[in-house]
Parts: sequence; structure tokens; C-alpha cells
Amino acid sequence: MERTLVIFKPDALNRALVGEILHVFERKGLKVVGMKMMFLNDNLLDEHYSHLKNKPFFPRIKKFMKSAPSILCVLEGNNAVTVVRAICGVTRGYEAAPGTIRGDYSLSGQCNVVHASDSLVSADIEIARFFKDHELFDYEKIDFNFIYAEDEK
Ligand code: ADP
Repeated sequence: MERTLVIFKPDALNRALVGEILHVFERKGLKVVGMKMMFLNDNLLDEHYSHLKNKPFFPRIKKFMKSAPSILCVLEGNNAVTVVRAICGVTRGYEAAPGTIRGDYSLSGQCNVVHASDSLVSADIEIARFFKDHELFDYEKIDFNFIYAEDEK
């Protein structure tokens, strides 16, 4: 089973969308194995968005990401990285397909409600960036046998 990181960004909290969006992931069958709320600071944001550090909008993203707390969530499931990215939709809300989270809840290139890891390698790095081992939970979920077939477990 893969694990991936989702961040509910400050716009999700301000717009009271956290419960609704978490429900989308839960309904899909993804398992919540870690969750915490925190203010992301400069160090964390410089690391997390290092691939954008030379972009003109970089200071703006950081200001936005520090404007309110975020909720960080680790989701587990078969092909979780690809599945969660697909559920989130493309970066810009105004381009994201209806039915995706960004397509349904965002009209912005910046305020796009959620972050999702873009590969298994990034997921491992991002989960380790925000979560200690003891903050991630292994447990049996009672619907497991109805979410996966025998050969998918
Ligand atoms: P994604 O979040 O889809 O993986 P990126 O890693 O390219 O996309 O960008 C990270 C975040 O930076 C985006 O989710 C968005 O909040 C912000 N962002 C990306 N491009 C722009 C832009 N042109 N203007 C403002 N903010 C942007």
C-alpha cells in the first residue's frame, strides 16, 4: 500500500471546506493514517516549495501558506499517490476538471485548496518532512475486505 501527503491549505480552512474534502478521500476508500494541524513556517515552506524558489510568485505563495494554519494528512491505499493527485485535479482551479477537488472548489492558480504529493519519491520525502514515525498509525480498518479484492491487498 502506498502513502501520500495531502495538505489542506489555508483557503480550505478559511472556507470551511476541510470536512467536505476529507470526506471525498474517505469515500474513495483511502485510509487516514496521520493528521495534524500546524502553521507552516519559512523553513518548511522553503523546503516544500524549493522547486518554485526562483518563480516570481514564490513570495506570494509563502505569504498565502502562512496566512492561516494548514491541516496535514497522510492517506494510505492502493496506488494512493496517483489516485489522490487525480482526485485533486490539475494545479489551477480554473483549469481543473469538474469532479476534481480543485475543479469543484477553486477558481485560482494559487488558492487551490489542497496539496498532494506528485510521486512516490516525493510522498516519502514530504511525509518525513512533516510527520515523525510515531505520528503515523498502523491499524485495521473494518471495511478493508470490501474496498479491496483478495489479490489487491
Ligand atoms: P501542484 O500543487 O499542482 O503540485 P506546483 O508544485 O507547480 O503545483 O505549485 C505548488 C503551488 O504553488 C500550487 O499548488 C499553487 O498553490 C502555487 N502556484 C503554482 N503556480 C502558481 C502561479 N503561477 N501563481 C501563483 N501560485 C502558483
